[in-house]
Amino acid sequence: MVALGREGTPADAILGVVPREVVEPATLDEAAEVLAACARDGRAVAFVGGGTELELGAPPRRLDVLLRTARLARVVEHAPADQIAVVEAGLPLGELQRRLRPHRQRLALDPPLAERATVGGVVAANAYGPRRHRFGAARDLVVGMSFVRADGVLAKGGGKVVKNVAGFDVPRLLVGSLGTLALIGTVTFRLHPLPEADRTVLVPMLDAGGLRALAAALGQAQLEPSAAAALLTGDGFQLALRFEGFPPGVAEQAQRLFALCERLGHGVEPLEEEGARAFWARHNAARSGGALRARLTFPRTGLEPAERLALRPLLASLGGAAAAIYPTLGVAFASGEPADPGAAARAVTEARAALAAAGGSLVVGAAPAEVRARVDPWGPPPPGLSLMRRVKAQLDPEERLAPGRFVGGI
Ligand SMILES: Cc1cc2nc3c(=O)[nH]c(=O)nc-3n(C[C@H](O)[C@H](O)[C@H](O)COP(=O)(O)OP(=O)(O)OC[C@H]3O[C@@H](n4cnc5c(N)ncnc54)[C@H](O)[C@@H]3O)c2cc1C
Repeated sequence: MVALGREGTPADAILGVVPREVVEPATLDEAAEVLAACARDGRAVAFVGGGTELELGAPPRRLDVLLRTARLARVVEHAPADQIAVVEAGLPLGELQRRLRPHRQRLALDPPLAERATVGGVVAANAYGPRRHRFGAARDLVVGMSFVRADGVLAKGGGKVVKNVAGFDVPRLLVGSLGTLALIGTVTFRLHPLPEADRTVLVPMLDAGGLRALAAALGQAQLEPSAAAALLTGDGFQLALRFEGFPPGVAEQAQRLFALCERLGHGVEPLEEEGARAFWARHNAARSGGALRARLTFPRTGLEPAERLALRPLLASLGGAAAAIYPTLGVAFASGEPADPGAAARAVTEARAALAAAGGSLVVGAAPAEVRARVDPWGPPPPGLSLMRRVKAQLDPEERLAPGRFVGGI
């Protein structure tokens, strides 16, 4: 077998599985050649961007070649008038934002660790931050993609070629597929204008019922924040709402929020730039810190039971615990250090059961090996599993792309 790259080292491991070889193609054509060579020899491949979400999912069943996308980092095209950019998958999100800024544009995605996270990884994980409230997740901002199939065929953007794999809308399926279906090569994003004004307002003291009610009241009060996120404090929550746009509109929205909070009996605190930065930094730390990280979902109307039966008990099993909640979306992120792996694993299992009973879910995004040994990161297979297996069988019939990483052992 011909060597494709340098020898893998423990620093290249995915959840403890060290690849035999590591390649860093400089172009998509080179990447296609690597995948074609892997197809010929039956080698298993996994893709790595910034490496910020590699703990999500199960360890790969086998791993011969690790393909790093670091050198696939070009902005292929930026059409400011059309608010569209075509970028290679290995470009870090923060760098993309810097390139767009002189044109007063941005990609309205704000997952944590944007300086390291690559656009390909963000799309592969369907990642998002608090601006999902207004702009959606990666899936909502991707308008096209080129990708390299498991057999090494480069399917270039748009139209017939991309949709031609057994009738599937492949780019759509690749969002959230964690590298199990194809290598994302370039992504075409819809962009948004940079706002002229940006203001964060804090509602510093809420209980779970107050948080749910306030989140539900935003729409009726014609409040349109670009982001809404709460942080857990001792026994309550602090909710931050971010307003972005033209200065008069932002000022008017803040006034509306003050009026709404007065009516509901909540205090409210406009944050100066530094205070706002500190809040969003704490939010990012709650999402990206800690050896154990979990994403909890629940019906928006079920925030109180989700807090009482799942979030609090899970946090009680962790040291230095933190949580960020997106109450308008029904999502919470919990993180911390498990002191006792057995207790943390039990808390995950019990929280998962409580959420599932209400139609929610819990996905472990990261955990020490001792916890992983006791709980499946995905939990029970979702209802669409058989469909997902059929998609996998079409796109990667030999199960060579990140085998075993995804839900249900896909
Ligand atoms: C083999 C394969 C086949 C696929 N087939 C399809 C398809 O037919 N149609 C399609 O739209 N997408 C398909 N995808 C994409 C993929 O299922 C989703 O994009 C991905 O699960 C995460 O995106 P999301 O939008 O569900 O995330 P979110 O919107 O953040 O999550 C929505 C809900 O799904 C839960 N959830 C997300 N991922 C998982 C998981 N893996 N296990 C359990 N719960 C989870 C979340 O907790 C949440 O409750 C496929 C992916 C693969 C790997």
